[in-house]
Amino acid sequence: MRTQVAIIGAGPAGMLLSRILGRAGVEHIVLERQTRDHVLGRIRAGVLEWGTVETLRDHGLGARMDREGHVHETINIAWRGQELLSVDTHDRVGKRMMAYGQTNIQEDLYEAADASGAEIFFEASDVQPNGVTTDSPWVSFTHGGVGQRIDCDFVAGCDGFHGASRLTIPESVRREYEKVCPFGWLGILSETPPLPILMYANHERGFALCSMRNPMLSRYYVQCSMEDTVDDWSDDRFWNELFARIPNEQADQIQTGPSIEKSIAPLRSFVSEPMRYGNLFLAGDAAHIVPPTGAKGLNLAVSDVRYLSRAFVSHYQGDDRYLESYSEMALRRVWGAMRFSWWLTLLLHRFPDQTDFDQRAQEQEISYLAGSEAAQIAMSEQYVGLPYEDQEDA
Ligand SMILES: Cc1cc2nc3c(=O)[nH]c(=O)nc-3n(C[C@H](O)[C@H](O)[C@H](O)COP(=O)(O)OP(=O)(O)OC[C@H]3O[C@@H](n4cnc5c(N)ncnc54)[C@H](O)[C@@H]3O)c2cc1C
Repeated sequence: MRTQVAIIGAGPAGMLLSRILGRAGVEHIVLERQTRDHVLGRIRAGVLEWGTVETLRDHGLGARMDREGHVHETINIAWRGQELLSVDTHDRVGKRMMAYGQTNIQEDLYEAADASGAEIFFEASDVQPNGVTTDSPWVSFTHGGVGQRIDCDFVAGCDGFHGASRLTIPESVRREYEKVCPFGWLGILSETPPLPILMYANHERGFALCSMRNPMLSRYYVQCSMEDTVDDWSDDRFWNELFARIPNEQADQIQTGPSIEKSIAPLRSFVSEPMRYGNLFLAGDAAHIVPPTGAKGLNLAVSDVRYLSRAFVSHYQGDDRYLESYSEMALRRVWGAMRFSWWLTLLLHRFPDQTDFDQRAQEQEISYLAGSEAAQIAMSEQYVGLPYEDQEDA
């Protein structure tokens, strides 16, 4: 097979890239290790920056999101037990957020790919980029028990943290930066009406988050030990712990119900540089992981793809400026989100070695945030998403 861009991974990054390239007339083939149902079954992100919302709309992926998504414009932090700090991002920086599940985005992307006839190989195994420092790279893989090869101009590594693309970059070239939190998030999905606001909680028992996916689907998290397993957490134990960490006023509004999904996620910050090696380009979780506190993982995958699709489309129009600047430009935004996510993680969690002094200092920082318009502007600007860099910055 021969194509212009071989895309590895059919998650949000790979499928959005496929969508944008397809609409611009750039030939491509997508290779995915899992089945389509497996990808659709993964419960993950849910809070979209406004830039992500506009990117999806610009590429004909906004109809269901605009119908079913929930626009919100406050970041709420419960603290000192019963107090609630509300920061109005629209008031502070003129922007809102949208709650719309990654699972729905993935469905919308596959539906759009079906309609446009995009070529996707599911259950492709042994996927391996080759010859990426030459002008004629290729991707080898096995499909239906048969070895295959795609010759291409570029390889887009959108295959997530455990993919093969990043590891193709030699260790002598790759620089990795990592910080792992000494705790995890226990999350549940419940088919109950969500709390109408997105609310984080800083509590001496540990962090909690009340979030939503749609009007009948709630997502709640509590900080837990990485030694815990989901079997340690009955639904009753989960609800009791959540209610112990949030103000009574909000707890009273929450309708409990059986969990339909329960999992424990680690919190990790990870960046691999550069995001380009020869004609291999990384996008999304293949190059970086953020702790979910700042709700940035999916949003960064979208911003990488914005830059990368522009680089490929411009290349076929005779302009290589964006190919050359891709890695640096994407990494500037990645590090912005990385720093913010780490700051928010430090602000809101209880670390195992944290003393009462540290707890007081955290509370003072939230108190400062509550009283300072400047601090609220800085937080809002980063939470709703730093601006994309445009043509002049290339
Ligand atoms: C449990 C969990 C909870 C999360 N919660 C949030 C959240 O609340 N907010 C937030 O913003 N972000 C969250 N994230 C992060 C967010 O989901 C990711 O940032 C996002 O999925 C990145 O998209 P991606 O396409 O880059 O990677 P992925 O979604 O990982 O997609 C990569 C695709 O590549 C495929 N693949 C992997 N290896 C190969 C291979 N060798 N060959 C072919 N295909 C391969 C995979 O099967 C997968 O389909 C969460 C992530 C996890 C794991």
